[in-house]
Amino acid sequence: MARETVIDGGSGPGEDPERDLRPKRIDEMVGQQQVIARLRIAIDAARERGDALGHVLLDGPPGLGKTTFATCIPREMDVGLQMTSGAILKAPRDLVPYLTNADEHSVLFIDEIHRIPKIVEEYLYTAMEDFRVDIILGEGINARTHNLWIKPFTLIGATTRSGMLSGPLRDRFLIREHLGFYSESELTEIVLRTASQLKVEILEHAADEIARRSRGTPRIANNRLRWVRDYAQTKADGIVTQDVTNAALAMLGIDVTGMDPLDRDYLKTIIHVFEGGPVGIEALAHTMNTSKDTLEDEVEPFLLRNGFVVRSPRGRMATAKTYEHLQLPAPESELADGDEQRSLFG
Ligand code: ADP
Repeated sequence: MARETVIDGGSGPGEDPERDLRPKRIDEMVGQQQVIARLRIAIDAARERGDALGHVLLDGPPGLGKTTFATCIPREMDVGLQMTSGAILKAPRDLVPYLTNADEHSVLFIDEIHRIPKIVEEYLYTAMEDFRVDIILGEGINARTHNLWIKPFTLIGATTRSGMLSGPLRDRFLIREHLGFYSESELTEIVLRTASQLKVEILEHAADEIARRSRGTPRIANNRLRWVRDYAQTKADGIVTQDVTNAALAMLGIDVTGMDPLDRDYLKTIIHVFEGGPVGIEALAHTMNTSKDTLEDEVEPFLLRNGFVVRSPRGRMATAKTYEHLQLPAPESELADGDEQRSLFG
């Protein structure tokens, strides 16, 4: 039954630093309680009926646990897992081996599913709905299309951009879950859990401090803990205290809110270059010499959620809170009250 995880894209043993830290079972996961409760019902029901779990779509910013869910679900179902990414599925032929190799009820995880081209997406439709694929055998005038039945499987798609998925693809997912940011207490629990896995001695206040400065994101919390551990090891006696944490994070330019230099660069560009906005994302990305995807996936969700930037139909704008945080004088203007209102109500 449960078979070794097949990871595409060349991640051999020891190459994925997150693999060992990832919770193995859903019970070990911290937070996301409502998502877990709904998934549990669907998993238990599918197991009881002896069916494949319905297709699952997970969306949310990077580092919130989409891959972790995708690796835990097959363990709960006691089935195999194949992993790939939308970025490397360029044509239907790239997808065929995964579909034809899928064991009964096993899971196929496609990360970044919004990146699959239309032609691959359309190929997925019949595979997801009827468990059938068309394959072409032979070449030239001898080429024939064959209908091939595949074993019922579960597709788990992960995306940071559910808005980029077409309606027909989204509708084929029976279970759709959005992963939100984690609370500080949940992140503290994750930091303590990771510290014990890494055998790092850490004081509770220090774990709180790392959690507070980790932008609601487990991956960031784990990465910051690793940095603070290294710092404690080389600059102190190895014990992660609050003073050590403050010094280590200051060295990375991570401030009390968890903002890093890229976040501040983004906000300062809006303020200094575009006079507080509104400014379009393309113009911002060009000016900062960074990619639009990085800004949209990794910078903006945190800043938007915390009111450091607002999005209006005319573009991104700094808020009074941003000027205050960066200790810059706010302009005389009304800081686009109207835009703030519009962004609140769509
Ligand atoms: P995503 O696929 O959404 O980018 P991952 O699933 O790779 O995020 O999660 C990043 C890291 O954060 C994982 O290695 C894992 O250690 C940690 N993590 C994520 N979600 C949780 C959770 N709910 N509980 C504990 N650790 C988590």
